[in-house]
Amino acid sequence: MQNLHIQTPLIESRAMSLLAGRPIWLKMDALQPSGSFKLRGIGHACVEHARRGAQRFISSSGGNAGIAVAYAGRRLGVPVTVVVPQSASLRARELILQEGAALEVVRASWQEANAHALGLVGPADAFIHPFDDPLLWRGNSTLIDEVAEAGLKPAALVLAVGGGGLLCGVMEGLQRHSWLDIPVIAVETLGADSFAQAVRAGRPVELPAITSLATSLGARRVSDRALEWYRQGNIRSAVVQDGAAVRACLRFMADQRVVVEPACGAALAVVYEKLPELQGDGPVLVIVCGGVTAPVEQLFKWAEL
Ligand SMILES: *Cc1c(COP(=O)(O)O)cnc(C)c1O
Repeated sequence: MQNLHIQTPLIESRAMSLLAGRPIWLKMDALQPSGSFKLRGIGHACVEHARRGAQRFISSSGGNAGIAVAYAGRRLGVPVTVVVPQSASLRARELILQEGAALEVVRASWQEANAHALGLVGPADAFIHPFDDPLLWRGNSTLIDEVAEAGLKPAALVLAVGGGGLLCGVMEGLQRHSWLDIPVIAVETLGADSFAQAVRAGRPVELPAITSLATSLGARRVSDRALEWYRQGNIRSAVVQDGAAVRACLRFMADQRVVVEPACGAALAVVYEKLPELQGDGPVLVIVCGGVTAPVEQLFKWAEL
């Protein structure tokens, strides 16, 4: 079985380069068929579980992870059940159903939806975690392989962090190419800053609640592997306000004609807000992780807040 993700474009943004005063390269994972980078890791995990004979995939994500699992299941001919909390957006629910997955809506929190999903997992089922699984990291690491194959060695790299699945995959890819010296700017929004707080505390931290509108970054606690990479690599943590993330989405839409979620806007805000982390020479690679749960009208509404 081949990959479910596609090789995405790697393009230099003239508008963003002029703004930053150094070349800004975009890895356009917003163009994955499921609309986010998540298909790399989740696609790889689903292919692997199908190969081992899984009869059903189960996910408890009401966002891009659940959508990626639903997409993977359809492509592989494996039934999918996605359990979401009532807070899951209408848009996400529609997209999960559009992929032909069974959708179960559970009253109350994600914790309860997750517990219900885990209770459904039978011996022939595979539970697909949204960020904490070496299979996901392996799949996500292909993003760096593509950048290396294109002949670009970035002087710095910018990405968004939720639970840390993208970060762990990127670090694994950097290690494979002996690129661990490259500074990685790991961006979160205020209110979803579980990585920044853990880094500051020097140990895992569990946020009492997620208060950012960038719900795709809303892991109350990052994976332990993400914190191990922090000790091993050259990672700098950065936090932006929700407003900066939303503004970045709108400016990116104007500059590149592509719609992304505030979760992705957080990474783009490093350039658009000219954060001090952006200073230096040489090309910067920004991972445009995408996200499909925030329609354009929603972005405009948030921008008015
Ligand atoms: C999941 C997601 C993230 C965060 O990825 P993690 O692997 O949880 O760190 C960022 N942006 C988008 C659009 C996502 O779907």
